[in-house]
Amino acid sequence: MVREILVWPHPTLKQKAQPVAQVDDSVRELIRDMFESMAAADGVGLAAPQIGVLKRVIVLDTSSKQPELKPVAMVNPEILSVEGSFVYKEGCLSVPGEAEDVERPAKVTVRYLEEQGQSQTLTCEGLLATAVQHETDHLNGIMFVDHISSLKREIIRKRMKKVQSYQAAKKARGESSAEAS
Ligand code: ZN
Repeated sequence: MVREILVWPHPTLKQKAQPVAQVDDSVRELIRDMFESMAAADGVGLAAPQIGVLKRVIVLDTSSKQPELKPVAMVNPEILSVEGSFVYKEGCLSVPGEAEDVERPAKVTVRYLEEQGQSQTLTCEGLLATAVQHETDHLNGIMFVDHISSLKREIIRKRMKKVQSYQAAKKARGESSAEAS
């Protein structure tokens, strides 16, 4: 099911997500919804707090830029090590229409539980390295706009207020696409 994606600065996006105790059917259903919501919004990554669920779950699909990589879901991801530096113009499904350069480590090794609850370790480079750090940040209440200058952040905050009031008006008229599908 495609879920509604919260727009920053929604208060839920500032909260820390809780670890998943057991990867059961409800978590697998959440992962399915997250993949569907990410695809519907044409994103490369999505974290559970973006659909209002404060659990440590992220999904990633960078195959449009990295065709050799498969989509991946990570439960309780932990970044074990980082290396180098890489600047990428990041966007976010919770900050629609905005993109800014963010510098992050170029290569990261992450440990996580896959959809059957097995522990995995993956070394990520390129867009996947950026995306996994961006999504892990969401689990800690951190947005990509927290990595840019406060001046740019405040300009974006004003634009997002307009997006939110537009969405609220649309919802009041019963035109929310997320709820209709
Ligand atoms: Zn994001």
